[in-house]
Amino acid sequence: MHEFELIEHYFHRAGGAGVAVGIGDDGAVLDLPAERQLVAVADTLVAGVHYPDELTPADIGFRAVAVNLSDIAAMGATPAWFTLALSIPAADATWLEGFASGLFAAADEHDVALVGGDTTAGLQTVITVQALGHVARGRCLQRSGCQPGDRIYLSGTPGDAAAGLACLQNGESQPYLVQRFRRPAARVALGASLVGIANAAIDVSDGLCADLSHVLTASGCGATLEQERLPLSAELVAYCGEAEAARSALAGGDDYELVFTVSEANEQRLLQATRDKGQFVTRIGVAEPEPGLRMTHNGQQQAVPSTGYRHFA
Ligand code: ADP
Ligand code: MG
Repeated sequence: MHEFELIEHYFHRAGGAGVAVGIGDDGAVLDLPAERQLVAVADTLVAGVHYPDELTPADIGFRAVAVNLSDIAAMGATPAWFTLALSIPAADATWLEGFASGLFAAADEHDVALVGGDTTAGLQTVITVQALGHVARGRCLQRSGCQPGDRIYLSGTPGDAAAGLACLQNGESQPYLVQRFRRPAARVALGASLVGIANAAIDVSDGLCADLSHVLTASGCGATLEQERLPLSAELVAYCGEAEAARSALAGGDDYELVFTVSEANEQRLLQATRDKGQFVTRIGVAEPEPGLRMTHNGQQQAVPSTGYRHFA
């Protein structure tokens, strides 16, 4: 199967909201809703660097889209479209079938249309997805908006995905944890509902402490986390005990939860909005004027676990 047949067979699907011109021309033409700004993000997955051999092609496709939708969500934006630049060693039908099914499973969950891309033969599998979304003019959530006094909130239960990856690689049967790594749930609805409520947001890809530190640095403030408030899943605690679960939650990556900050004045609005939509968020700390990230456990100072994943480190 050559390049054009491959695109037509696996990736060309008609339709999509706002798609004036989609796959098949030199470029996609997209209608942005009135009074909305375009938000563009991209993430690359390199085989062996960003995912282990144990992932199925469908998991890889799902993740390639989900990690991008997570970035869109962290901007408070609504995802609408994506492009796919795919470099693969061979046109393996089984791999492509699985990959496309996972890709569209993640996209369909959020009504996001594939509108173009590029397909090349390469020495290894490299997958770049670019997601495009939109947000009300001037209303996006940025890393730099955190103010001293803000409450720091987190979605979901962090640490599951890092433990799930370890289980996957060690062949341990922990279906819940492994699934949390295989199929990250981009917090798209939550992100959009934070517009006008949160002051700053980021998604947790490298680890809670590492990513929250990016918000604090960008905002020129600091924070204290209260370790006992961390929302640890029962499965994670049962798997590795409370102390290791907390470490995984603070330093482990791949969760794709949102960390965001809310002024005291907006806290009730947040709780109302998330309760109405059935979204699970937990207050884990407070922002302070003094730069840096600190942590307490039942009032006692604790060391902050160091750093998330860094390329070229
Ligand atoms: P060009 O030669 O103009 O770069 P291509 O031949 O690379 O165009 O692609 C043909 C059409 O197929 C374009 O509309 C492009 O956006 C789309 N396309 C190519 N690869 C993919 C892919 N992996 N997923 C979705 N669309 C793709
Ligand atoms: Mg091309």
